[in-house]
Amino acid sequence: MFNLVIFGAPGSGKGTQSEKLIDRYGLTHISTGQVLRDEIASGSELGKVADSYISKGHLIPDDLMVKILADEIDRLTPSSKGFIFDGFPRTVAQAEELARMLAERGEDIHSVIGLEVPDDELMDRLVKRGAVSGRADDNPETIKNRLNVYHTTTSPLRDYYLAKGKYKSIHGLGSVDEIFDRIASEIGE
Ligand code: AMP
Repeated sequence: MFNLVIFGAPGSGKGTQSEKLIDRYGLTHISTGQVLRDEIASGSELGKVADSYISKGHLIPDDLMVKILADEIDRLTPSSKGFIFDGFPRTVAQAEELARMLAERGEDIHSVIGLEVPDDELMDRLVKRGAVSGRADDNPETIKNRLNVYHTTTSPLRDYYLAKGKYKSIHGLGSVDEIFDRIASEIGE
């Protein structure tokens, strides 16, 4: 399998670039944010728990999130050539669990694609997206919390994956196609 992590702050373009990577490499998309939004829309118990965190811009606790991801991997593995993990991992504990889960299945992460975008641009993009996305967490107050959580809890993963030689830094400003070309030349497949 060919497994990628697409990494970056909220609004850095992970979802958009994932779609292009799926088209080019035939990969299976696992967006943990989307899995949670589907649970909320279905009105499930898990959705109610998830909503209480997402609406505040907080992270879902690691143990719950890891279990949700393991279920998705098991559900999708039989039909997959490889995964794009979008929005996971967001903590070092999640990264360690991801490595463990993949190793158990004889798999590994090929590359971590890090989309790097300055904060003022992220804020601008997310506020604009909020006007059309209908996402409850795309409002200025929650966006501020999400960016804060990103900087304090998630961005240390950049160094974590750099140390493993897996992190590919991608300049995240420019057109969608320009950014995709940078990604494709970094992963070189
Ligand atoms: P996203 O669509 O990736 O921006 O995720 C939306 C929200 O879902 C986040 O702000 C978190 O509240 C929650 N979420 C998604 N993925 C994770 C994760 N890996 N760990 C914890 N919370 C997550």
